[in-house]
Amino acid sequence: MTRQAPLIAELVNLATSHRRGGARTRCPQGEELVAAFAAAAGERVGMALRADPDAGPRLAELARELREALLADQAADQAARINAMIRRYGAQPYLVEDVGQPFHLHFHGAGDAHVEAMGGEFATALALIVDGYGPDRFGQCEAHQCDAVYIDLTRNGSRRYCGTACTARAKTAAYRSRRQT
Ligand SMILES: [Zn+2]
Repeated sequence: MTRQAPLIAELVNLATSHRRGGARTRCPQGEELVAAFAAAAGERVGMALRADPDAGPRLAELARELREALLADQAADQAARINAMIRRYGAQPYLVEDVGQPFHLHFHGAGDAHVEAMGGEFATALALIVDGYGPDRFGQCEAHQCDAVYIDLTRNGSRRYCGTACTARAKTAAYRSRRQT
């Protein structure tokens, strides 16, 4: 399930992060959001999303729910939000055989539409990360002027930034402030 983590962060950051990497960003909406996320999600998911004329607002809603779950202050609140998403999207475990891959577990939501199917997958992925890694593996980037989220799957739980660019910026800033004292 951890393979979903980068996609979850990508969706949340595309749709809800207003400052990324030190600059203000305009969050895309509607078809623009679908196109941007489809580009990140790969061909199969991208095609399914683009075929759905109303995917944009539902994708934005899913992103908002995911962000609230990721950044919940209390573990109990976080668990309640994730559980609510699992229920709402009707996530169901079932085994799937993809071409060239052995059977593996999917947790698609109950609806036919791809946004809802993905909602089930994403909600279950968060639940499995909490179960496997503990409740402290989600956060907001600590670099200056960035409110992007991250999902930390490092062994020692050491992640603090949304990506390599913010890690580099934060290191440079720390170096400068050390030199000034
Ligand atoms: Zn960042």
